[in-house]
Amino acid sequence: MLRLYKTPALLRRLLPGYTWLREERGKVLYLTFDDGPIPEVTPWVLEQLAQYRAQATFFAVGDNIVKHQDIAEQILAAGHRLANHTHNHLRGWETSLERYLENVQQCQQELERLNPIAAQPKLFRPPYGRITLKQAAALRPAYELVMWDVLTNDYDRSLSPEKCLREAIRCTQSGSIIVFHDSLKAQRNMQYALPRFLDHFTAQGYTFQTL
Ligand SMILES: [Zn+2]
Repeated sequence: MLRLYKTPALLRRLLPGYTWLREERGKVLYLTFDDGPIPEVTPWVLEQLAQYRAQATFFAVGDNIVKHQDIAEQILAAGHRLANHTHNHLRGWETSLERYLENVQQCQQELERLNPIAAQPKLFRPPYGRITLKQAAALRPAYELVMWDVLTNDYDRSLSPEKCLREAIRCTQSGSIIVFHDSLKAQRNMQYALPRFLDHFTAQGYTFQTL
């Protein structure tokens, strides 16, 4: 099975209106966690990050913020960023423009309700990385559309934890935006790979910052 871990430079050039990585001179990495917050996984992630004094960006599902507001507040209290991943994890290609924009707005309202200052500037990551040109064009004036440079594929249960870690390390460079998931599906691979990933790059002098 073909899995893509590293976003090809050609794709980045073909789709310039999205953030794929940050141009960095220093040793800075950008960890991102999609689909939470949930009690089974997100607090564990926060503990790992704290151990390495690492900051990260959580692309949260608005519905999960409503259900687990205490965890969303913990994320912000620890200095991480909370960002928009739609309210119901919609598939852009299968959703009308109007419904999609409404759902993004619904998530943004939850973020602003939690903390109006922390909700700015607005970051949005489309679920599955799938968004139509029209949806992207409609969101772009207000949102930075954040994709990724390194996809860990942690949610893929046919992938071994060891390979998940190995590929994540191999594909990461200064300025990389790396995707993990604080989800049940990704739990096994993520819980293996994340602490080792943090350990590996911290030992090499990298710091982890929010977007
Ligand atoms: Zn997602």
